[in-house]
Amino acid sequence: MLYPETPAKCCSYCGGRDHEFEDCPKRKADAEKQKEEAARREAQNSKVPSG
Ligand SMILES: [Zn+2]
Repeated sequence: MLYPETPAKCCSYCGGRDHEFEDCPKRKADAEKQKEEAARREAQNSKVPSG
């Protein structure tokens, strides 16, 4: 180990080395965005008249 003090972390989402996938701030931000978009789409779908 060249850097024993450096935690062996490697985010598989954004490639960051200071955190893991579970703690990825980018992933959380994207998840929030997707949630909002999904809610918006649902709202639009419910407006569509049936028939
Ligand atoms: Zn990350």
